[in-house]
Amino acid sequence: MSLEAHRHKKQLGQHFLSSPGVVEKIVRAIDPKPGEFLVEIGPGAGALTFPLLRAHGELTVIEFDRDLIGPLAIEGAKHGRLTIVHRDVLQVDFGRLGQGHDVEGPLRLVGNLPYNISTPILFHVMEHAEAVKDMHFMLQKEVVDRMAAAPGSKTYGRLSVMLQAVCRVTPLFDVPPGAFTPPPKVDSAVVRLVPRPPAEVGVKDARHFARTVAAAFSQRRKTLRNALAPVCGPEAIRAAGIDPGARAEQVPVQAFITLSNQLSEAGLSPPEAAPL
Ligand code: SAM
Repeated sequence: MSLEAHRHKKQLGQHFLSSPGVVEKIVRAIDPKPGEFLVEIGPGAGALTFPLLRAHGELTVIEFDRDLIGPLAIEGAKHGRLTIVHRDVLQVDFGRLGQGHDVEGPLRLVGNLPYNISTPILFHVMEHAEAVKDMHFMLQKEVVDRMAAAPGSKTYGRLSVMLQAVCRVTPLFDVPPGAFTPPPKVDSAVVRLVPRPPAEVGVKDARHFARTVAAAFSQRRKTLRNALAPVCGPEAIRAAGIDPGARAEQVPVQAFITLSNQLSEAGLSPPEAAPL
């Protein structure tokens, strides 16, 4: 079967980019340089893949849909050196993706992500943040707004804190539904994520940090004193430089990091949290 004849699979979030202008803007934002290790998540029918291959000469893609693998390989060979990894991206170890590959160095990840699993993909990639130079992802605009939100705004929440603790988050531009086939029901946006050096971040225990943030936001309307009452007293919150009368949505990322480090050192641990 050819790429043109491919029938979109809703369950795999297949909304393919059909606007050359948007594709060009994304490639320009990525600005691939010779020798970089470029990896695309979810190439679909190649809307981004082939322009990236032409711009860069070499690309690794991760695609789950078996029907796309053969046609992608045939078409890709016309544009450059395409390596196809036929796997669920959530099972890919990004730290080892470069092994046996000519190009060395940290990954530059790109992708118009399947929106139904975009948050699990983000968190999976963050576990390998040390192997990644940067990421350019198309996501639901609403998710990008939450990722980039500042303390005190309505959209600032668990996702904002968890991502901003690991990365610098920069929304680049919005994309309307008409740029895709079939069009999604929501607006989209392209975001750039650049991992922060672990020494700059200073999270001592990533699991504890995730639990602390989840506990703080478990009841948005409650003050931290109340939300964290099962874990610690107000003096422990104050010791981290946070007003116990504040709500989680007012607390900066770095203050959550200090709070988690101090609670963890004191042997105080919030319960395991449900995934985001
Ligand atoms: N990049 C193409 C474009 O912009 O036209 C397609 C983007 S489409 C929104 C998402 C792509 O991710 C689809 O090709 C889909 O098959 C693939 N995909 C969905 N779930 C996946 C998974 N778990 N692992 C790898 N790829 C997946």
